[in-house]
This record gives sequence, C-alpha cells and structure tokens, in this order.
Amino acid sequence: MALVLSGRKFARVVRSSLLERVNALSGPPPGLTVIMVGDDPASRVYVGAKEKACKKVGFNSRIVSLPEETTEGQILDLINELNSDDSVHGILVQLPLPAHVSVDRIASAVLPEKDVDGFHPVNVGRLWRGEDGLFPCTPSGIVGLLHHHQIPLSGKNALIVGRSNIVGKPMAALLLRENCTVSIAHSRTSNLIEQCRRADLLVVAVGRAEMVNADWVKPGAVVVDVGMNRNSEGKLVGDVDYNSVSSVCSAITPVPGGVGPLTIAFLLENTLLARTRLLT
Ligand code: NAP
Repeated sequence: MALVLSGRKFARVVRSSLLERVNALSGPPPGLTVIMVGDDPASRVYVGAKEKACKKVGFNSRIVSLPEETTEGQILDLINELNSDDSVHGILVQLPLPAHVSVDRIASAVLPEKDVDGFHPVNVGRLWRGEDGLFPCTPSGIVGLLHHHQIPLSGKNALIVGRSNIVGKPMAALLLRENCTVSIAHSRTSNLIEQCRRADLLVVAVGRAEMVNADWVKPGAVVVDVGMNRNSEGKLVGDVDYNSVSSVCSAITPVPGGVGPLTIAFLLENTLLARTRLLT
C-alpha cells in the first residue's frame, strides 16, 4: 500500500516550528495584511482561516474588507500605503477580484519583497532564474512535503498536469530547481495518459474530479493531487482517483488532508521570510 503523504500532519510540524521561531524573535512580530474586495463567501472562509492561522503562530494579522464597488485606483492607493508601512511584512490580495479590477495590475503593485503570494512578475522571474524570492505557497508546500518525507527528486521525471500561474507553472519551476526533469501537460496535450505513465513524480492540478486512475500511473510513482472538487454526491475529492491509484503508486497525497493544508502554512513561512529579509 502506498505511503500517505499527509499535508495535515506536515502543516502541524511547520506551524509548531514557526511558533518557536516567532517566539525567539526580537523586534516586531511578522505582520500580514489581507485585502478582500467584495463579499465572496468562499473568500471569506479562506481569509478567516488565514487570520486564525496567523494568530496561532503569533503573527499580527489585519484584514481590510472593501466593498465590491471599490475602484482599482483605491485598491492601488491602499497597496501603496501598505508597501511603505514598516509594520506590514506581507501583503496578500484575496482572489477573485471583481471584474472591473485587473488582477495583473494589482499583483504588480505589491512590493516584491512583501509579495507573500509570489505572484509579482519580479518574483516569477526570480523563481525561474533560480534566485532568492517569494514563491507561490501551494507548490512551495508540496516541495516541503516531499522533502519532509525524504522523497528523492534529483534526476526524476516529473510531469505536472495543469499550467496555471498559481500552481502548474511555479510547480514546474520549483521541481526544476530540485533537479527533476520537468514536463508540463495541459488540456491540449496529446497522449496525456502515456505522458502520465512515464512520470516518476506526477503532480495533478487540473480541477476535474478523479480524472486520473490507476491506468495512468507508473507503478511505484509518487502522486501529488492538488485538485479540490465536489463529486456528484457533493463529497470533496481530488483530481486523482485515490482508491485505485494508491494501489499502484509508492506515495500519494490524500484529498482532503493532503495539499490543502499546506497553502496557509507556507503563506506563514513566506511572511516570516519576508520579515527577516526586510529587517536585515
Ligand atoms: P486552473 O487555473 O483552472 O488550471 C487548470 C489547468 O488544468 C489548466 O492549465 C488546464 O489546461 C488544465 N486542464 C484542464 N482540463 C484538462 C484536461 N482534461 N487534461 C489536461 N489538462 C487539463 O486551475 P488551478 O488554479 O491550477 O487549480 C487546479 C486545481 O487545484 C483546482 O481543483 C483547484 O481547486 C485546486 N487548487 C488547490 C489548492 C490547494 O489545495 N491549496 C490551491 C490551488 C488550486 P489549459 O491551460 O490548456 O486550459
């Protein structure tokens, strides 16, 4: 039976390490400000979870809730204020934003040194160039989880299914930094199943319930399931058919309890890292 790569357990390890490091700090605690525009119920839940996680590890957190009709200019003014506020080390703009606001312009306005989501073009460039920066939380958490379980990465064939800017592309860049041989598949990839079958490490970030089954997976491969979907019965499932795939692979992340809990844990890691760099 496959090793279960529990993100829930690893996130606990990360949080307790963060708490220790925060307690040992001299000077101000790490400060994270989350900007939320509009009243999307899912965003409200995510933002609440981020605030709770911050409190548990001794961070200062602040949520700025703005009405749906806030203009792009008003959001940019707020970001400029936060960029020059020394008590703020991390700025996160919760997505989705209302249609009249450009996600790209907002992401580019955050000071790269406070861009704890890792979406600023400067951080994207630093990631691909192999330089230090702040990198997207979900893929960073996945690499952390693989290291935590001492899964060898160097020289392995990694296939990432999905090419979003939030997961697929930064995942590819991070695995390249780990010396994997990296391929990216997407909705136009031909022979997707064959491509998947060649992978030693298969990361699936598509958003289609249980798309990948055991026939797609090389025996002994490591499988990371980023997907979060509701199946026809309303149950939370990944992009991977866990029951069939776990009978052929060597290690797998479950859904729920796999990749999901890592995102906030690594947002906190990024905020502490940003604080350290800003104050030194
Ligand atoms: P996204 O922006 O919608 O991107 C999906 C990607 O999958 C696209 O690149 C798309 O290809 C590709 N794709 C769609 N159908 C495909 C198919 N049949 N075969 C191969 N590729 C296909 O999604 P995302 O933001 O990356 O998120 C992906 C999943 O991860 C979602 O379920 C999301 O909820 C979940 N997620 C979880 C976390 C977390 O656990 N913390 C964080 C982020 C996302 P094209 O580019 O060709 O359209």
